[in-house]
Amino acid sequence: MTNPSTSASGSSSAISDALTPVGAALFNTVTVWDGPIALSHYWMRRDLNASYASEVTPKLTANATETVQRVNALIEAMRADGVIIEWSPTAVGRTPITSGWRPQAINSGTPGAAVRSLHITAQACDLFDPEGALDSWCMTHKEKLAQIGLWLEHPSATKGWCHVQTVAPRSGNRVFYP
Ligand SMILES: [Zn+2]
Repeated sequence: MTNPSTSASGSSSAISDALTPVGAALFNTVTVWDGPIALSHYWMRRDLNASYASEVTPKLTANATETVQRVNALIEAMRADGVIIEWSPTAVGRTPITSGWRPQAINSGTPGAAVRSLHITAQACDLFDPEGALDSWCMTHKEKLAQIGLWLEHPSATKGWCHVQTVAPRSGNRVFYP
């Protein structure tokens, strides 16, 4: 559907293994991502696909805009604490978003995705988190999540990524199990 190599949104710079003890075992290089997330990153170009265009309502766009805003606030807070955000090799374009908006059909074809996933309503976002650094930060900064207005899926259920959402889960818990 899309070719990631044709997109280069956000700036990035490579750091050699020698400078990054964490992650060296998994990656030859770690690529730092220092841009803010744009709405286009969140759509993952699915908004441009005629098959899904009818799902992109003003309400969906408003949800996505809010999600992007809060995730950017989260990223900023993490960076202020020295957390390194990386762009994902599996993302659409060079962004840290491993899963943004999921049209109904894509969600249905996503292994392990909840039937009523908040990715469908553009109220959830997954960030590349190969070492669990983002999840760890969230677990120790729940007050910050509350301040920003995000809820975290428990890290034990999200190995390799960090799922945050802009609406409370049924339990109301800041960190929840799916
Ligand atoms: Zn998710």
